[in-house]
Amino acid sequence: MVQRVALTRCESYQLPVLENSLKKLLGLLGGIGEFVKNGDRVLIKINLLSGRPPEKAVTTHPSLVEAVVNLVKEAGGIPAIGDSPGEMATITGLARAYRTAGFEEVSRKTGVPLLSFEDDVMEVENSQGHLYKKFTVTKQIKDFNVIISLPKLKTHPLTYITAAVKNNFGFIPGLRKTEFHLKLPDRELLSEMLVDLLDTIKIDLVILDGIVAMEGNGPAGGVPRKVGAILASRNLVALDFVACQLIGYKNPFDIPTNRIAVERKFFLPGNMEILGERIEDLQVKDFKRIPQDVSRKIPLFLSKWLKSLLSAKPKIIDELCNRCFHCLENCPVKCVEKNKDGKLSIHYSDCIRCFCCQELCFQGAIITERPWLVKLFTA
Ligand code: SF4
Ligand code: SF4
Repeated sequence: MVQRVALTRCESYQLPVLENSLKKLLGLLGGIGEFVKNGDRVLIKINLLSGRPPEKAVTTHPSLVEAVVNLVKEAGGIPAIGDSPGEMATITGLARAYRTAGFEEVSRKTGVPLLSFEDDVMEVENSQGHLYKKFTVTKQIKDFNVIISLPKLKTHPLTYITAAVKNNFGFIPGLRKTEFHLKLPDRELLSEMLVDLLDTIKIDLVILDGIVAMEGNGPAGGVPRKVGAILASRNLVALDFVACQLIGYKNPFDIPTNRIAVERKFFLPGNMEILGERIEDLQVKDFKRIPQDVSRKIPLFLSKWLKSLLSAKPKIIDELCNRCFHCLENCPVKCVEKNKDGKLSIHYSDCIRCFCCQELCFQGAIITERPWLVKLFTA
């Protein structure tokens, strides 16, 4: 079956512009009616990594979410908005995150509820899973017969990009996500798990916010960068194949989830059709991407220390740190420590390179440091 990815230029978050662009985008796939029927209960799964203002490009832009809500309603669907942020989320913390990121306003204007994924959970099974044959996810998904995923295009130190496939991780409530980082301290294993999850929760439509993406130190501390594109597909891997090329990847197989999903036959690149704009017309070639980690290519018989010598690691930039202690509180192996002088340091011998600290640092004070040996040979 041909997997179609629609790609449209969209330069602005102004609602009328967005609504026009969205209609054009979904028109390439047959229109919203292909995905939402009268009376459908539609879960709109956003990216609410943390409560940051929309202009920081950490979360899906609220105007895009509002435009999708309006389209779903036009088609007769009954929408709700939800996600689980990366850190420990109390009810008040979640409400604050929704407010700061602009979703409380969307809810007020449209009357659409904002859901918590934190309370009720359920187990979903996937007998085909390689690492995980079941996941504990929010029970909210039981109440919906259509799921639309609305990820944000950003860099990520472990998965290189966060787009369609990675957005499913938010179905796993709050700190349960951290447990995966603890058990899977490796980008390959984490990517295997994400592909297992991909096969466990069915997404009916994914629409990627690539109007303003995040480059550099993503997914929380990077720099907003205009790409000017929105993408849509039924197939999450096909969409990620196009998304990574938009930000300059020449080889989509450099993204581990892409490679693993193709190996496991979730997607055949030869069967992809790109509708609308051409990738090369929207591509941002000098987008600041995460440098490739060479440690995957080290044979197993080589020692652990060599692998750690060649792996990127998190580094705290003290001048940017505001001592919020999010990193210290959420590190799964508790290897971030407060020193007597108040500064923070990381015990690298215990650090599992999960980069949760970087993901949760609002200040952009944690960067990914490449080892000097790798810099030497890849300069
Ligand atoms: S999360 Fe960032 S700003 Fe907060 S204490 Fe850690 S390094 Fe500093
Ligand atoms: S210091 Fe950061 S990268 Fe290392 S284990 Fe803790 S959260 Fe993960």
